[in-house]
Amino acid sequence: MEDTSIQYNLLKKAFDPAEFRKQGHTLVDMIADYIESVQNDPTQKVLPYQEPEDMHKIWKEDLQTPSSDISETFKKIIDHSIHVHHPRYIGHQVTSPALIASLSGLLSDVLNNGSAVYEMGMTANAMEKIITDLLADKIGFDEDPSGFITSGGTLANLTALLAARREKVPTVWQYGYQEKLAVMVSEEAHYCIDRAARILGMGEEGVIKIPVDEQFKIKTDVLESHYQNAVDNGYKVIAIVGCSCSTSTGSYDDLEAIGHFASRHNLWFHVDGAHGGAVIFSEKYKHLVKGIDQADSVVIDFHKMMMTPSLNTALVFKNAKTTYQTFVQKAHYLWDEQETKEWYNGGKRTFECTKGMMIIKVYSLLKSYGTKIFEQNINALHDISKDFVAEIKSNANFEVRLEQISSNIVNFRYINTDINLNDINNRLRELLIKSGKFYIVQTRIKDEVFLRVTIINPLTTMDDLKALLQEIEQIAETL
Ligand SMILES: *Cc1c(COP(=O)(O)O)cnc(C)c1O
Repeated sequence: MEDTSIQYNLLKKAFDPAEFRKQGHTLVDMIADYIESVQNDPTQKVLPYQEPEDMHKIWKEDLQTPSSDISETFKKIIDHSIHVHHPRYIGHQVTSPALIASLSGLLSDVLNNGSAVYEMGMTANAMEKIITDLLADKIGFDEDPSGFITSGGTLANLTALLAARREKVPTVWQYGYQEKLAVMVSEEAHYCIDRAARILGMGEEGVIKIPVDEQFKIKTDVLESHYQNAVDNGYKVIAIVGCSCSTSTGSYDDLEAIGHFASRHNLWFHVDGAHGGAVIFSEKYKHLVKGIDQADSVVIDFHKMMMTPSLNTALVFKNAKTTYQTFVQKAHYLWDEQETKEWYNGGKRTFECTKGMMIIKVYSLLKSYGTKIFEQNINALHDISKDFVAEIKSNANFEVRLEQISSNIVNFRYINTDINLNDINNRLRELLIKSGKFYIVQTRIKDEVFLRVTIINPLTTMDDLKALLQEIEQIAETL
């Protein structure tokens, strides 16, 4: 007979707690050293850039080399990644996670309670209720609100629009489209709104893009004419989306005006607060989302301004009924009835079936520091962004696109040149990225290229931002 203990020796090893303990201690020490070094030495590279083909080769070769010590690989992964805890990581909106939130992610990955049904996710479902109730309270929903956590703003926006469609045209879910449906949204909205509407089968024409004013806020005085135009063309408009804030320029739409418009026409009012909805936690900045309590649904990403590893998004509904009826399907092996309001069977309402215990990461932040941590983060990021705008304005080599910024997103460009401004700013960013010294992105605003900074790490200082301008000036001299 074969000796099964030898045949399956790898399985035993993979589940060995002693091995885990050893590797875990080594990894935590390695991560702590890493964070310490990127925080304390801003001259280190933030992005160890390599071309895609080279990176592919590195890992292909790595996998072919047997290793008894996984910690070497962990080190190599760190070395070949962008460093989001670096104070000069000031590009995209993805946060520098607070370390307790990351640590609790390990617990989620070990416990692996896939929270679609209560028995598989008792703790996570209860925590999701507590935290989305807290958000509902901060938003100002006071009737029968209800929310859940889902995998990112993109999926949350899609789910919200599904709920909107279900509420406004209940027959679509069963019979498909019998009329042309449309949603209204700012032309500056995140692309995922357009994508969601197309996934929902509304087509390009079903996404009514409303122009913005000079602050990049939706023009509320043309809502009525765009609406009437759509109706005249045979569309049934079901929803309007407000941006809090827009992705490119960080502009907050006037939610009060949009709310009034939505209620006048019986539209679903959705707020895409993936980035900026977090300001509900700040006394100083919550005025930016005045009127958010009029919404039917609100999306807030914890992985943007709330220091939580991605993905981690809350979708909160003003009226619980609308979230329970979004998906009406029978899944008898999971639960008996779909539409009963069981908050504890998460999968009834989420797009996902199996879903990780993402909420532990948010919960651990709240438990450790209270909601004050969110307020401090939001205030720190917004305050420094305003100072950065002032700094750019005081430097004749640069111009800033929006003098009155609302959020932590700043667009500016280098102007001291005879070369075409788009060309030089493109080139400047490219060289900056390859230098690895800073990470910033770029965007096109009305066909003009701007350097785009999102200050998302609260440990970024004015010295870092001044150094960024100096670095750009130095690169420009070489061009
Ligand atoms: C980031 C963002 C999204 C997309 O969210 P993900 O979590 O990246 O899927 C949607 N809308 C806005 C306004 C955003 O800033």
